[in-house]
Amino acid sequence: MPANIQQQLFKDRETATLFERALQHGLDYLQTANEREVYPSEAALQQLEEFAEDFPSQSTPATAVVDTLHQYGSPATVTVSGGRYFGFVNGSYVPAGLAAKLIGDFWDQNTAMQVLSPIAARLETVVEGWLADIFGLPSTTVTGFVSGSSMANFCALAAARYRLLAKQNWDVNQRGLWGAPAIRVVTGKQAHSTVKKSLALLGIGLEQVEWVPVDEQGRILVDALPALDSRTLLILQAGEVNSGAFDHFSELCKRARAADAWVHIDGAFGLWAAAAKEFNYLTKGIELAHSWAADGHKTLNTPYDCGLVMCVDQEALVSSLHMGGSYLVLSEQGRDSMFYTPEMSRRARVVEVWATLKNLGRQGLDEMVSNLCYRAQQFATEIGQVAGFTVLNDVVFNQVIVRCGSDELTDAVIAEIQAQRTCWVGGSVWEGRKVIRISVCSWLTTAEDISRAVASFSSALSVCEKVVIK
Ligand SMILES: *Cc1c(COP(=O)(O)O)cnc(C)c1O
Repeated sequence: MPANIQQQLFKDRETATLFERALQHGLDYLQTANEREVYPSEAALQQLEEFAEDFPSQSTPATAVVDTLHQYGSPATVTVSGGRYFGFVNGSYVPAGLAAKLIGDFWDQNTAMQVLSPIAARLETVVEGWLADIFGLPSTTVTGFVSGSSMANFCALAAARYRLLAKQNWDVNQRGLWGAPAIRVVTGKQAHSTVKKSLALLGIGLEQVEWVPVDEQGRILVDALPALDSRTLLILQAGEVNSGAFDHFSELCKRARAADAWVHIDGAFGLWAAAAKEFNYLTKGIELAHSWAADGHKTLNTPYDCGLVMCVDQEALVSSLHMGGSYLVLSEQGRDSMFYTPEMSRRARVVEVWATLKNLGRQGLDEMVSNLCYRAQQFATEIGQVAGFTVLNDVVFNQVIVRCGSDELTDAVIAEIQAQRTCWVGGSVWEGRKVIRISVCSWLTTAEDISRAVASFSSALSVCEKVVIK
């Protein structure tokens, strides 16, 4: 061991060996990703014990550090970067996005201000324009590059809160919520839990929310919408997290506009329907909203973590996220990114968004999004032909929900599918009953992957039918 750590670190930095070794481990991982069991084996999980040590007093050579990570870490990963992970809503990554991220990692840019990273500021400005184009939003829409749709929803709802209170001559930044005039929140009963979390974090809470009944797909019933007014925040959804259903944006947004209410659309994975000619009927009318949340790391298949908050009311977004600054920043050339996100220091995740979009282009993006939907349709068709499974939703986008004969059997089948490790799916509850949720979100998923998953469902059902007494 050399005399001091700085010498050692210089050496690590200057010899390519360490980085080449890490890259080789990554490439080994990538090459086996599609054939590896989707969930780690029991043995691999056991081996995680290797990490359970007290903080070491001595340094460990850098090559040994990355070797350990690969040896015991790689086998214990969930293979979301393959074609048969259908849990939650989890994208893989487009190769160019990951490659660009690697370069960005070497840059190690802090995007807080333009002066800290001219390249990040420029890419954010460029991608902001591309996103408005892709989603068909007003050209004045601004974008913050956040960690995911949780944060995107939070930022957008903060902007809405700012605006709805400012309209009532109340500066929420200065005066807080104590004694503030009331604002109303109207949303569907199937709003995503991160919307609820954001309302809680923003001090609005859930008790005041006016929950609108939804139809059998989870869409807000237009006729059940209460009368809106200029103090109202209406929260809609592009892609219900189980069924993938989209609210009726044109009609709902029209009513909100007429009442001067604020409309936010949680479009974590579904907003990307706008990029596909065959599916963009689903997002018709979204351009009438005021703010939107979308993920990079789901449908767009950028690496984790990556979310987008878009807002047509720049002043509201920037005012609600600003820190110590003033409106002066808005009149400067270029962009100081910290005014568009809650964080000050932040990595340049725009690099991956830019690279992914540049790599795909309009046609490629359309094809990639459409393919997810085609594979979901294929899954629904094939599983529908297996006796014992019932598809419960209209498969309009990338989500399929399926049920077996009883809740008990459905639970057992989920556990058996997970144990088989050919694919991974999770459970949920739909209209009071246990269901299996299939989310096709990886560009890698082929027709064969779907058939293999269906075969696993089928064999899991045979196993479970013998055990579970109905
Ligand atoms: C995934 C999801 C979220 C949360 O997004 P994260 O990227 O996980 O933070 C919000 N809303 C919907 C509809 C989602 O599917």
